[in-house]
Amino acid sequence: MQKYRISINDLPPGGKEFDLNDRAIWQAPLREFEMDCRISSPLSAHISVLPAEGGCLVRGELRGQVVLPCNRCAEDAVADIRNSFEEFEELPGENDPDAGLNAHAGNVAPDPTVETESRVIYERNTPMLDLAAVCWEEFVLALPTNPLCKTGCKGLCVQCGANLNNGDCGCIPDKGDPRMAVLRELTLHKN
Ligand SMILES: [Zn+2]
Ligand SMILES: [Zn+2]
Repeated sequence: MQKYRISINDLPPGGKEFDLNDRAIWQAPLREFEMDCRISSPLSAHISVLPAEGGCLVRGELRGQVVLPCNRCAEDAVADIRNSFEEFEELPGENDPDAGLNAHAGNVAPDPTVETESRVIYERNTPMLDLAAVCWEEFVLALPTNPLCKTGCKGLCVQCGANLNNGDCGCIPDKGDPRMAVLRELTLHKN
């Protein structure tokens, strides 16, 4: 998101603080990646950016709440987002803005915004830190890997698909490998 890009060169020596709570910062990529995740309580990030040799130090915290599908029963699982982070954002090498131009024999206008793997983007040779990208990446890192609707969710019956949290579905547990049944029969006939 262009409007959340800040020029690293213009940072005051003491750094600068930012409060970001525009829902679109998270909502846009959630939609783009078709993620099954709903923001249930507003997300907000407090970020401080301190200029440093060869880059900048990005510190902050992210708060909010989302609803994801439970890993076991697919019902709503509420997850609190609480994440503190501290990362050094390195400036991409000085040659990077021209990277890719060698592939074309002149006549090709350089791309004004060359994206790199880092969250720093060059705009007219000025390194810009994309705060929206920081917010999004920290959000993804803060998502639970195993969201559950409640601790001890019983999940779904493997035979009929009923949600076992709503009670027993009455299915008889699987008898196991049918090849083993032959052996079980043999044991039974021993007497
Ligand atoms: Zn569940
Ligand atoms: Zn069942």
